[in-house]
Amino acid sequence: MFDNLSDKLDRAFKVLKGQGQISEVNVAETSKEIRRALLDADVNYKIAKNFADSVKEKALGQDVLTSVSPGQLFTKITHDELASLMGGESTDINLKGSPAVILIAGLQGSGKTTFSGKLSNYLKKKKGKNPMLVAADVYRPAAIDQLHVLGEQINIEVYSDKENKNPVEIAKAGITHAKSKGFDVVIIDTAGRLAVDEQMMNEIAAVKQAINPSEILFVVDSMTGQDAVNTAKAFNDRLDFDGVVLTKLDGDTRGGAALSIRSVVDKPIKFVGTGEKMEALDVFYPKRMADRILG
Ligand code: GDP
Repeated sequence: MFDNLSDKLDRAFKVLKGQGQISEVNVAETSKEIRRALLDADVNYKIAKNFADSVKEKALGQDVLTSVSPGQLFTKITHDELASLMGGESTDINLKGSPAVILIAGLQGSGKTTFSGKLSNYLKKKKGKNPMLVAADVYRPAAIDQLHVLGEQINIEVYSDKENKNPVEIAKAGITHAKSKGFDVVIIDTAGRLAVDEQMMNEIAAVKQAINPSEILFVVDSMTGQDAVNTAKAFNDRLDFDGVVLTKLDGDTRGGAALSIRSVVDKPIKFVGTGEKMEALDVFYPKRMADRILG
């Protein structure tokens, strides 16, 4: 995960980790290397520049030049800044409501259906909840079947109605069904498109309005870099979602989405997907992610 970024940052710190006299020029040069490493990871220019400037300022402010181990101090400053760029503290999922209703949104192929299954599995096994899934992707019957297959695999009930093409009605009927059967969390998997379009946004906004969910999670493929960030912005402008789920972090992702999304949409990353299996889901901890990036 983020191997290239880790290597580049490690190389950036080399000068400061060496023995010789450290100068302001070395610090400036290192900060430039950091900026380059972030740009290579597909972080947008403004965020990369602000980040590098802030690290430099803090380093000079904290007397890196006279420190006994400037490399270490610089790494620590970068670590703290990386964690803060990704949101600082971890943010829990909101499960208020009876049942708590969680709406899942995102583009087709982002990993929504897989994540819906993973989340229900996580809530059942790790949080002692009794969740139910609702298949509200009215365009892809295959997505409904896929959710049923996942549900069977993890032993979670899936509500669907293939005859109904109205996602608002399906979502409402799913919640009513869940109430009558005593489920305490309802996770609604919605339809996506290959790109942001008005009809999809209208539809999901209508579902939001009709069911007033406790939590809206936006799912995005981390491999898509800055596109992921732009898509997040488009969905957030329309839906004002509560959190982000970054999928496919097990792939060869460069890291740009993880590093940029928070500063662009100001919403926390709550979960990351790390594989196709139902267990491949992690709660997102910015500090731990910063640890991994800096090795
Ligand atoms: P949807 O169209 O948004 O519902 O996307 P799907 O849930 O169908 O996922 C699209 C593809 O991505 C499927 O082949 C999934 O198995 C795969 N996928 C989803 N999440 C992950 C992940 O975290 N890691 C990997 N490697 N693959 C994933």
